[in-house]
Formats: sequence, C-alpha cells, structure tokens
Amino acid sequence: MGAIKQQKPKQPTRNEKTTWATFTYFGRQTRSITRIFKDTHIKITFKINNTINKILTPKPPKLTSDQQYQQSGVYCLTWPVCSVKYIGQIRGSFRKRFQEHFHDFKYNVRKSNFATHLLDHNHSIDTINETMSVLQGAAENSDGFQVPLYWQPCGMT
Ligand SMILES: [Zn+2]
Repeated sequence: MGAIKQQKPKQPTRNEKTTWATFTYFGRQTRSITRIFKDTHIKITFKINNTINKILTPKPPKLTSDQQYQQSGVYCLTWPVCSVKYIGQIRGSFRKRFQEHFHDFKYNVRKSNFATHLLDHNHSIDTINETMSVLQGAAENSDGFQVPLYWQPCGMT
C-alpha cells in the first residue's frame, strides 16, 4: 500500500514588514504602551509635539507651595520607597485632601486607598511636599465650574 503523502498546507509568508506607530511622547505612560508592543512587529516611535503642547497646555504657574496646595484639581500621591501611586481628583483644596489622607493614616481609618497601602505595608507618611504632586490645578470660574489650568505627568513636582 502506497503511503499517502500528506501535503502540508502552505504556510502563508509572514509579513515581516515593520509597522511604525507614532505616539506623542508624554512620559511614563507612553513607555508602558511601548512595552505592550514589544513582541509585535509594530515599532513605536515618539514624536515630541511641543508646538501643539504649547498651544493646548498652559505652563504650570510658578506658585509657592502654599498657593499650589490651595488649588483643586487632579493630584498624585506617591510613596517613593515602593513608588506606589494614587491619582485622585478633588474640588476642595489639595491641602485639605492631603490632611484627610494623613488623618486616615494616623488613626488607622481605612477609607483612603493611599493611607490603607501605607498602613498595610508598614510605611510611614511624609510631608505634603514629598508626597503630593499636582497634576492638574484647576480654578473655579464665576459659574462655579472647575477650569483645568495645566497638566503634568504623575511623579513630577
Ligand atoms: Zn508600598
């Protein structure tokens, strides 16, 4: 009996052409996106779009620490030892919110995720200047709406 030679299905030629995807560089988040595409044929290239940024994002104002934490908006809490990050948004002042986190930590109130992390991992808590960075300061306009003023990446002060 003659063996029936099985014809292997023809493998489609793999398309090794590299596709380039362009992201506008905006820091850490972009690097994580790059990592996602690491094992693919999509290569990431960065484009620093300063012109657009200059038009869309007003520069963070030079504020004293006091003025800075009197704003409301989006904030980032970091604990440098394990570089844990929490992002939050508030309408009241940043300082008041930080005091709430601080209070939760001090009195073991497990309401704040950040305080809970510090408690669970036997961390201590640092000062507002070391811990809280303002990502987006906002001001209330005359109608009581929060108007975003600027934006900067988490972990930068
Ligand atoms: Zn930790």
